[in-house]
Amino acid sequence: MHCPFCRHTDSKVIDSRTTEDGTAIRRRRACPECGRRFTTIETATLLVVKRSGVTEPFSRDKVVAGVRKACQGRPVTEDQLALLAQRVEEAVRASGVAELPTHEVGLAILGPLRELDLVAYLRFASVYRAFESLEDFEQAIAELRGAEADAEAAAEAALRPHGEQDEDAGVEPGAQPVTAP
Ligand SMILES: [Zn+2]
Repeated sequence: MHCPFCRHTDSKVIDSRTTEDGTAIRRRRACPECGRRFTTIETATLLVVKRSGVTEPFSRDKVVAGVRKACQGRPVTEDQLALLAQRVEEAVRASGVAELPTHEVGLAILGPLRELDLVAYLRFASVYRAFESLEDFEQAIAELRGAEADAEAAAEAALRPHGEQDEDAGVEPGAQPVTAP
C-alpha cells in the first residue's frame, strides 16, 4: 500500500485488528520513508444484511450450520453440505451485489437443498418461509410432487417404460439415460 503522504510505494503494518462487529479489519501502517502513520480498513465485499439491519460478511460456515440443523438424521454428508454452501456462495456472488438480505441467502439455499434431500428441504423451508399451518406444508409438498412429476415425465421420454418407483428414488440430475439397444 502506497503512503498517502509521500507516495512511497511501500508501508509497514504495525497493528491489525478486527472491528468490534467483526465486519472489517483495521490496519495501522507506518511509512518507512516519511515515518508518518495511517490506517486502512479492509471489508468483505459480500455482506449479508440481517433483519435487524446489522451487516456481517457472508459465511459459508453459517450456511452449513443452518442447513445442518435441517439435515439432522438425514443421509447427508459433510462434503455435501460444504458443496451446497459453495453453490450458494457462487449463486449470491453471481448476483453481483455487495450486500444482500439474509432472506435472499435463504432463497439461494432452497434450490440446492431440494436437490440434496427433500425432507431437509421441507424442514428448512418451513422455517425460512414461516410455515404456519398444515396447509403450508401440503402446498410445499404439492409443489415438490409437481416438480417430481415433471422430472419423471422428462425421464419417461428418455427411458423405456419402467415400473413403480420408490418415492425417494428421484431422478438424478445429469444421470446418463439408459437406452434400449
Ligand atoms: Zn510516506
